[in-house]
Amino acid sequence: MFVVVWKVFVLLIISQVHSEPMKIKSYSEQNSCDIGKLADEIASYDKVVKDIIDYVVRGPFKWKTYDELAKFVDLFGARPSGSKVLEESIDYMIKLTREEGIEHIVTEDVEVPHWVRGTEKLTMVQPRIKDIALLGLGRSISTPPNGISAEVVVVHSFDELAKIPNKEVEGKIVLYDPKFTSYGETVIYRSQGAAKAAEKGAVASLVRSIAPFSINTPHTGSQNYDEKVKKIPTAAISLEDADLIRRIYNRKEKIVLNITMSSTYDTKVSRNTLIDLKGTNYPEQLVIVSGHIDSWDVGQGAMDDGGGLFVSWAAPVILKRLNLRPKRTLRSIFWTAEELGLVGAYAYEEKHRNENNKINFIMESDEGTFAPRGLEVAGTPKARCIVAEILKLFESVNATTLVESNSPGSDITVLIQKGIPGASLHNANERYFWFHHTEGDTMNVEDRDELDLCTAFWTAVAYIIADISADIPRY
Ligand SMILES: [Zn+2]
Repeated sequence: MFVVVWKVFVLLIISQVHSEPMKIKSYSEQNSCDIGKLADEIASYDKVVKDIIDYVVRGPFKWKTYDELAKFVDLFGARPSGSKVLEESIDYMIKLTREEGIEHIVTEDVEVPHWVRGTEKLTMVQPRIKDIALLGLGRSISTPPNGISAEVVVVHSFDELAKIPNKEVEGKIVLYDPKFTSYGETVIYRSQGAAKAAEKGAVASLVRSIAPFSINTPHTGSQNYDEKVKKIPTAAISLEDADLIRRIYNRKEKIVLNITMSSTYDTKVSRNTLIDLKGTNYPEQLVIVSGHIDSWDVGQGAMDDGGGLFVSWAAPVILKRLNLRPKRTLRSIFWTAEELGLVGAYAYEEKHRNENNKINFIMESDEGTFAPRGLEVAGTPKARCIVAEILKLFESVNATTLVESNSPGSDITVLIQKGIPGASLHNANERYFWFHHTEGDTMNVEDRDELDLCTAFWTAVAYIIADISADIPRY
């Protein structure tokens, strides 16, 4: 997941009347949803939902999502933007889909960033010698070959940095040590830290990894230079080393670091992949499911976003196998170059701008494929009421929760900002940011049975939205 400015409001209000037991009201009750006869129509899909869940959880598709994801991840590993391996992995997914008899597959070229990490080394040289684990941030420039040796200034926030006189920052390395609250709130220190430190005259910047938990693992991620300010090298360090430096700094001891980083940066051509299961009645109308196929260069990209990629691959495959053709076209998109700034999604929006009014609903899974709980939904009150009604059909897999969000997903926010209603997979992802953008993003994070539940839920929700008589209303 790239930088997502979240505003998530969980609208489960717990009401307690006198001494009666706690009762959790559903989204529909909370919001006095009245969608008329459409509610009965939606309820009639209960048999289809059961069939899809049975097929995936107990039938021929059992553990297939995990097995196919594992084959893919074991074969390709990390798939960074602009790399040859990413293109090979795209070819593989096309072949895998063709083998299922799905014919409508197109790719669309996208110019993407190609940033390649070279040597990276960070050593504390004063008050004692200690190697510090680091990961350069996306697009970081290199240091001179012998690195940069400089004293460290540690700050919690941009406000704190702003209050320090420039002359006390000039020539130094700034370490941002923000307290992790949520990813959306804290990630600004990764994405804007280098630019703000350079403005004050710093020669390099470091950030405490944007994560709530660590086993000395730095977390990389994208960052944006300010074109008006000098570019400086920038990297993330682990929570443990950030705490160490903070403690020494608070004792007013002088800390000197040597940082050496190298990298190359150019652009390459990659591809978005579009797979269509054509609608029977309104083939020009689209319901989209999606995930991104690129990953960071560290770890294996199994969780971010291999899981989302494979549940979105599975949706048209399962519907085809079950001979369930929705009235509208179900399109599965594998976005490219998400990690370096939603590059594939911006290219898609631009290329399809004239026909984006045909997108009825857009979905993305890019925040983990742990046990599904429901959907995070952007849209009008009526749009959310319709989706809440659909979610009632998923009681058997505990995925009935609707969370209101203004910008669910990552890539799809580009289209949601244009007024298209959409949703991302709400799942039990409390551990997502433990592994996010680290060497720890491997198949070991994924669970066969939870992936099955995600696949079944994702497929059935997309099918119903693509098949019901009513469109999902727009803003
Ligand atoms: Zn992602």
